[in-house]
Amino acid sequence: MGELHAGGRAPRSGDRSRCPACGTAVDASVYRCARCLVYFCFKCRRRVPAKEDQFQCLNQMCERYGKLVCEFCLELQAVMGEFPKKELVSEGIAGYRKTTHSRRFVTYCALATAAIVVGLGFGLDLCCGISWWWTLPVAAFISYRESLYLMDCHTNVAPVPAVYRDIVETAFVGNRKICGACRQSVARL
Ligand SMILES: [Zn+2]
Ligand SMILES: [Zn+2]
Ligand SMILES: [Zn+2]
Repeated sequence: MGELHAGGRAPRSGDRSRCPACGTAVDASVYRCARCLVYFCFKCRRRVPAKEDQFQCLNQMCERYGKLVCEFCLELQAVMGEFPKKELVSEGIAGYRKTTHSRRFVTYCALATAAIVVGLGFGLDLCCGISWWWTLPVAAFISYRESLYLMDCHTNVAPVPAVYRDIVETAFVGNRKICGACRQSVARL
């Protein structure tokens, strides 16, 4: 069956002394065959067609500086970005605080108020002879309003603004291609 490539996906460095296309002896420092005019990668010696991305190292100290290098001979470097953000330090306090009473407390208050109103009605009935019946709807109304108030009352407090601090978050932005030899910037040819 087919033979495995040594190194799996990693391209091998080919014979640096021969053109990969026609086999003509070439210098190890070139990336184009003088005879068949085929371009090949300076590093791995594979043919690089014109429609494929071609790169060169921009580092003048590197042996691949200005040489045609294929994209398989580049490395990827993670690019991190810095993003300023606001982080909450302490939450603020609104200008009021809601006071909640238990349902039992509200019921007792309403009953007590109703009892006082009806008791006043009885007192008026006894001393002045005014019928006490009118106190029933009045007691019901007052108790109802009172329980509504008790179930939703607010206390005013001094508002405190929320406190934030400036932080800088570092996050992965993407990968950039770098030279596989010196790890410096590359440019498309
Ligand atoms: Zn050739
Ligand atoms: Zn290559
Ligand atoms: Zn380089």
